[in-house]
Amino acid sequence: MSKLLNGYRRHRLRSLPLPTEWERVIEHNVVFFESLSSADRKALFGHTQVLLAEKRFEGCDGLVLTDEIRVTVAAYASVLLLGRDTDYYPRLTSILVYPGAYVARGERHLGDGIWEEGDHTRLGETGLRLGAVVVAWDDIPRGRGGRIPRGNVVLHELAHQLDFEDYVADGTPLLEPGQHASWKQVFGDEYERLRCAVNAGEPTVLDPYGAKNRVEFFAVATEAFFCRGREMQAAHPALYRELRAFYHQHPAAWSPHEASAATS
Ligand SMILES: [Zn+2]
Repeated sequence: MSKLLNGYRRHRLRSLPLPTEWERVIEHNVVFFESLSSADRKALFGHTQVLLAEKRFEGCDGLVLTDEIRVTVAAYASVLLLGRDTDYYPRLTSILVYPGAYVARGERHLGDGIWEEGDHTRLGETGLRLGAVVVAWDDIPRGRGGRIPRGNVVLHELAHQLDFEDYVADGTPLLEPGQHASWKQVFGDEYERLRCAVNAGEPTVLDPYGAKNRVEFFAVATEAFFCRGREMQAAHPALYRELRAFYHQHPAAWSPHEASAATS
């Protein structure tokens, strides 16, 4: 019954017109918004409404949350849900936003496959039992001006939440029937390929952080898929195909927001 009520409530939320000011924030801040189909843009607005209504947003370290911050984070979180059946990150309760990098205990990659335990600067985190996602506002790409976004901390942390939907953190989210065999093969091969390249000190298209474990590999691959689709499709065509089938998106065909970011 509650599932039915949830479905009805979410349907109503998605049908609400987005306040004009929020629409402007998304159009300006979500770097690849213009490349989305009109159906996906509409869906993104609807998912944003649901996430803003269902998740608790908190500012940390003195950050005063504005509509721009909440709407931008919710909109990027919605990108991963487009074209898919979704339960809106059911393991996630809160989204904590720091103004910039913050210090927390954990492991840091020093290069060449070497990791160091201690207090380190972080840009985001989440965990299977955390019920929260933490992100640094300064590190979230917004607007088509400025530096080329190499990644996106919101996409990274929310990819972890998709991984957690089956209550297991293993780098494999809930897949559609028929995708398991190819996913297992491709992700297994590509993870080993990245580990070898990182250990050998070779340059990689994927962030070397993905070599830490299979959980990080899925999150890092998701970031590269959305932020550097063409580069990723050229260097990792099989991995790109798997993520395209999973996310129902084709970022390699999007207009070159990377180039416009470099020149404006
Ligand atoms: Zn991660």
